[in-house]
Amino acid sequence: DPRIQRIASAIRVIPDFPKPGIMFQDITTLLLDTKAFKDTIDLFVERYKDQNISVVAGIEARGFIFGPPIALAIGAKFVPMRKPKKLPGEVISEEYALEYGTDKMEMHVGAVAAGERALVIDDLIATGGTLCAAMRLLERVGAHVVECACVIELAGLKVGA
Ligand code: 5GP
Repeated sequence: DPRIQRIASAIRVIPDFPKPGIMFQDITTLLLDTKAFKDTIDLFVERYKDQNISVVAGIEARGFIFGPPIALAIGAKFVPMRKPKKLPGEVISEEYALEYGTDKMEMHVGAVAAGERALVIDDLIATGGTLCAAMRLLERVGAHVVECACVIELAGLKVGA
């Protein structure tokens, strides 16, 4: 698909952010390119529009940028998967491994019902640990995770967990 190349070109790579040795994939420049941003959303919508998906779960923070326009276009609700202590209502939480240490992800109780078909959205997959935590949260409430989708896959990193 010729749109992929334009999208890839619109993503800026910033060396040594946030730490020396990391090549940070910066999607804010993709958001400045109105055509590439629209193409990004369109590609996801084309893939997921006829799959009876009722929930788009977006991972904080950049899943909050790509998730809502996809949710609106496919007629699904949007559910934020947040860092700890951000959601005001009752939550369920899942711990997941980071490069150093662990973090937690939280989802509101009652946001997703058993049997719902869910799509998980984030900007980037590296080890896959973040997406796996989101899947566990959705599966714990009895939802079916149809797929996880990201704009960027870091090449050369083996997905585990
Ligand atoms: P994983 O859990 O797959 O190892 O890491 C994915 C998470 O880290 C995503 O939530 C993603 O936003 C964030 N992340 C890690 N490296 C980068 C990067 O270079 N650019 C961006 N935009 N996000 C990153």
